[in-house]
Amino acid sequence: MNQNQQLFAAAQKHIPGGVNSPVRAFGSVGGTPLFIKKGEGAYIWDADDQRYIDYVGSWGPLILGHAHPDVVAAVISTAKNGMSFGAPTALEVELADLICEMLPSIEQVRLVSSGTEATMSAIRLARGFTGRDKLVKFEGCYHGHADSLLVKAGSGLLTFDNPSSAGVPASVAADTLVLPYNDVAALEQLFAEIGDKIAAIIVEPIAGNMNMVQASPTFVQAMRNLTIKYGAVLIYDEVMTGFRVDLQCTQGLHGIKPDLTCLGKVVGGGMPLAAFGGRSDIMAKLAPLGPVYQAGTLSGNPVAVAAGLVTLKKIREIGFFNSLTQQTNKLITGLIQVAKETNTVFNAQSVGGMFGFYFSENIPVSFADVMNSDRTRFNAFFHGMLNKGIYLAPSAFEAGFVSAAHSDEDILNTLAVAKIVFTEI
Ligand code: PLP
Repeated sequence: MNQNQQLFAAAQKHIPGGVNSPVRAFGSVGGTPLFIKKGEGAYIWDADDQRYIDYVGSWGPLILGHAHPDVVAAVISTAKNGMSFGAPTALEVELADLICEMLPSIEQVRLVSSGTEATMSAIRLARGFTGRDKLVKFEGCYHGHADSLLVKAGSGLLTFDNPSSAGVPASVAADTLVLPYNDVAALEQLFAEIGDKIAAIIVEPIAGNMNMVQASPTFVQAMRNLTIKYGAVLIYDEVMTGFRVDLQCTQGLHGIKPDLTCLGKVVGGGMPLAAFGGRSDIMAKLAPLGPVYQAGTLSGNPVAVAAGLVTLKKIREIGFFNSLTQQTNKLITGLIQVAKETNTVFNAQSVGGMFGFYFSENIPVSFADVMNSDRTRFNAFFHGMLNKGIYLAPSAFEAGFVSAAHSDEDILNTLAVAKIVFTEI
């Protein structure tokens, strides 16, 4: 047994399934998960000291690459002054100001510790604001693991072929209405029937938990128009896409002003930090101003805030997003090219530093399309790449990420390996 295998065996003794989040277990692709020892720039090293070019980036946060010196320095210097106070700090005011400056739809923002907390709190707030219970979500979209959101969700739940979870009361799930992604007619019909009972729509505006699927312009406009018409709250869940696809996130690309936005991942620079925010009349309903309760011992934790602040300041530097977008595009066009050269049925797309690739002819636009892609081929490709030093997400249902640390050489090496692996599978 190598070190990864030994650690995985040991982990299973006291950790259910040997992991602290299900998709890490390689359940979908089979085999032993890597135990990571170290990360630097675009690379990670496993317990057996093998180096990999990393396209997971901790599932999205590490837009600057692993252990960026400025982020590490900010974390260390902040931690030296104390890890947590459970009292306000100047740093969190600075981060809130910066988020509101960068995203015009956010007039007020609250910091939390995970994307799940952000979506869960945004939904409670939307319900408290509207006085309504019904929530609309879309098939294949994952918004964290709060009870009301584990209905036909994506990510690890797709790996289990089980789009819901045991332990969620039927009465809770009953208020979550699930529609197909990108289906304008279904959305219009639902609002025509019960629009006055709907508190909110929550959507991944570029879905990244059923592989990568983009919302069409007509779908986006329909969501905005219908929520305005019926007085419901439009929640953009940009936990994954926020500051990852564009400086103004997906809402900037769509030209849409959501009522509330959920942020996570990049905003915390690799530390446990997330946020939700939006219209100040809605945010005013939050405790201590209003009747909607929301709290957290470690909310706005100074060490996490310091990592987030440095990360956001870096990505605002001139040329950052252009360069990240170009690098990601080089990877995607290169993969499409080598797939063609090896007669592999394959397609791929990217926005900013986020990408998806599919063992199917066409780019999927719905959950049903994603389910029709060739999963067996994906698994063979995943393992072929892993064996040759390229770390991709261990599931056909996850998006991938390029960081500012990925060099031309990293991309070219990845493409050379992909060409060999396409031929092998
Ligand atoms: N929303 C989206 C779109 C996500 O991708 C995720 C996590 O991947 C979440 C919410 C939940 O975030 P967290 O895992 O930080 O709770």
